[in-house]
Amino acid sequence: MSIHDAERIVVKIGSSTLTHPTGLINYRQVESLVITLSDIINSGKQLILVTSGAVAVGMSMMLIKQKPSDIPTRQAIAAIGQSKLMSLYQAMFIKHHRNVGQILLSRDVTDNDHFKQNVKNTINKLIEMNAVPIVNENDSICVDELAYGDNDTLSSIVAVISESDSLVLLTDIDGLYSADPSKYENAELIQKVGIIDENIMSIASDSSSNIGTGGMKTKLIAARYAQKHDIDTYIINGNNPKNLYKLFDGEKIGTHILKGSDLK
Ligand code: GLU
Repeated sequence: MSIHDAERIVVKIGSSTLTHPTGLINYRQVESLVITLSDIINSGKQLILVTSGAVAVGMSMMLIKQKPSDIPTRQAIAAIGQSKLMSLYQAMFIKHHRNVGQILLSRDVTDNDHFKQNVKNTINKLIEMNAVPIVNENDSICVDELAYGDNDTLSSIVAVISESDSLVLLTDIDGLYSADPSKYENAELIQKVGIIDENIMSIASDSSSNIGTGGMKTKLIAARYAQKHDIDTYIINGNNPKNLYKLFDGEKIGTHILKGSDLK
């Protein structure tokens, strides 16, 4: 199935796309993301946004440059950042006549069938009410044993729970390359990936910045989980959120990881 035919799509945006290299909020980027998503929803698609940024936006609010290493401070920063993040999304989506609904998840919730069903019901209801479900990890309470570790993983779990057709991972490069493009000039963008085997996994770097926690490796792990559950994954450059239009218009952009039933 091409994304053109997908009805329900999870879009995941990372912290580094929502903030400037200075660590402060990139308002233009958030605004550009919101108008693009609103337009795509208006065209008839059902979108679920998985957003990182609680910690990054909290750091921006508190003018902190280094991610705090002690857990209570990080959780307090996430609490500050998450509410700012939601107020930003709310203010921007409402300009396009959309309400937003916040869902904060943790591993113990999505590992439990009963809670999982509740998450699914809420997502369905929000979409029915024309609101945009906005999901993040519940960073203010999650300690290691409750944590997903990164939002790439979380987004694939949300895609499965919500029975989405596709998962779009917005990142800060154009997709999966044959080698690290910042080190190797001849690195080539891989447009299509079939089965995610150890070969494919080995070309992905797991670099994580001071801002986000994911790298290409976590994206492939997320895509592998999606593939197993028959969901297509697209990794595209989110530095220009309008790239989403290109993807939905059927242009060849980024890396498409085929869903399970399309594997030969
Ligand atoms: N949930 C974290 C946050 O909102 C981000 C995790 C990630 O970067 O993948 O700050």
